[in-house]
Amino acid sequence: MSRVMEKIYALFRMNILIFVLLVATVIALFAYQYGLDEIAQLNIADCNNSDIKCAVQAETDSVDGGSSMVNLQWTDSSIVVDYELREGYAYPYAGIKIYMGDGKVRGRDLSGFDSMFVSVKPRGEGSVRLYMRGYDSEIYRENDETSLKFNEIEFFPLDETYPAVFVPKEFRVASWWVAQNEVNVHKAYVDLSNIPLIEIQTGTNAPLGYGTLEIKGITFKGKKIKKVDLVTILVAVWFVTFLIILIIRFFDYSRERAAEKKKREELEKNLRALEIEKSEYERSSKEDPLTGCLNRVGFNNVLMREQENLSKNGSPVSFVILDIDHFKDVNDTYGHNVGDEVLVGLSKLIQGKIRNTDALVRWGGEEFVILCGDTPIQNAQFLAEKLRVAIEKTPLIKQQQVTCSFGIAEMQLDEDPKKLFDRADRALYASKEGGRNRVTSATFKRASR
Ligand code: GH3
Ligand code: MG
Ligand code: MG
Repeated sequence: MSRVMEKIYALFRMNILIFVLLVATVIALFAYQYGLDEIAQLNIADCNNSDIKCAVQAETDSVDGGSSMVNLQWTDSSIVVDYELREGYAYPYAGIKIYMGDGKVRGRDLSGFDSMFVSVKPRGEGSVRLYMRGYDSEIYRENDETSLKFNEIEFFPLDETYPAVFVPKEFRVASWWVAQNEVNVHKAYVDLSNIPLIEIQTGTNAPLGYGTLEIKGITFKGKKIKKVDLVTILVAVWFVTFLIILIIRFFDYSRERAAEKKKREELEKNLRALEIEKSEYERSSKEDPLTGCLNRVGFNNVLMREQENLSKNGSPVSFVILDIDHFKDVNDTYGHNVGDEVLVGLSKLIQGKIRNTDALVRWGGEEFVILCGDTPIQNAQFLAEKLRVAIEKTPLIKQQQVTCSFGIAEMQLDEDPKKLFDRADRALYASKEGGRNRVTSATFKRASR
C-alpha cells in the first residue's frame, strides 16, 4: 500500500506544474461559470442615475406621415407610454427612443453581453418591437438617423415573460432597411458593437386605438471576460507550460548526459592508469630492481619454457652460474655503493654479450645465472670463457681487476631443476677451489633419444 502511495507521490511530484495548472484551470472555469458577471442596467425612468446614461424621447409614425398620438408619463421605476394608433401611415406605431452616447456615431458597445432582459409590460394587444440601432461608418449618412442599422427583434411581451430575455444572436437586421438603404448584403449582419439608439415601440400587429406600454428598461448581463478570450488564455498558458516542461526536460537530459560522459571518461582514465600500473607491477615483480636483470620469479617462467623446449623438441638447455671473486673485499675496500655499481656494470657487460633468447638472472647477492636455450654445453662453455675474459679485461673498478668464477651444466631430460642447479653450483665451487677466475663444466651424459 505504501509503495503505491510512494508511486503516486512520485508521479505527483514529477507533474506538479501540470497539477497546479489543472487546478488553476478548474478554478478559472468555475469562476467563469459562477462569477465574473458584468451587469449594466439601462434604467430609463432615471436616465442620469442609470448604469447606461440615456435620454428618452417619445416617437410616433408622424415622422412617416402618420397621425398616431403618444404621451409619456414617468413613474418611479418606469415610463408609461400612452398611445393611440390612428390610420394614416401604412403601419401605424408609437413608442420611445432611448439615446445613448452622442446618439449618433458614438453609442454603447453591447456586443459583449450574453443576454438582455427587456422589461416591457403591455396594456393592450399586439407585439412589441425592439430596435438596437447600430452605427456603421460605411453605411452612416451624416445627420440621417435612418442610416443607423436596424438590429431588430419583435416579440409578444406576455406577463409570464416579463421581462423578456434575449440573446444577441436572436436579433435580425430588418430587410426593408437593407433594401431602402441599398446596404451591401455582406454588411447586413447583426452588429451590437456601437449602439447610439434603442427604440421600443408597438409591433406590426398592434391594433388601432388606445394602448399602453409600461417600460422599465433593459438589463444587460455578460461576463467580464469573453469566453473566447478565456479559452485563448487557457490554451496559451497550457502551451507555454508544456514548452517550459519540455525545455526543462531537455536541459535535464543534456546535463545528465554530460555528467555521465564525464564519469565514463574518468572511469576510462582510471582504467588506463590501472592497466599501466598493472603492467609496471607485473614487470617489476619479475625484475631485480638494482640491475634490471630477471629475478627468480622471472627466471621460473623462462625455465618452464626451456624445459618444454627440451622435452618436446630435444632443444638443449645450458645453465651458467657465475659468482664475483672476493666481492666482499670490494665492498670492504670501496664501500657498498661501489659494490652496487660493480653489480650493475657487470650485468650490463653480460647483457651486451649474450643473445636475446638467453636470460640473465640475478640469483642473489653477487651470483648471476644465464639460462641459454638451444645451447649444448660446449657452446655454453665457449660463452662462459668469452665472458670470463671480457670481465677480466673490463675495469669495472678503477685500478682493480674484477673477476668471476663460472660453473656450467646442461639440463638433462626430465631432470629436476634443483639437481641441475646443484651440478652447476658444484662446478662453480670447483672453479673457486681451483683458484677462481675460471670456468668448470659439470659432467653431462646426453640422453639417447
Ligand atoms: P668468493 O670469491 O669466495 O665468492 O668471495 P666473496 O667475498 O665474493 O664471497 P662471499 O659470499 O663471502 O661474499 C659475498 C659478498 O657479496 C657479501 C656481501 O657483502 C656482498 N653482497 C651481496 N649482495 C650485495 C649487494 O647487493 N651489493 C653489494 N654491494 N654487495 C653485496
Ligand atoms: Mg657468493
Ligand atoms: Mg663471490
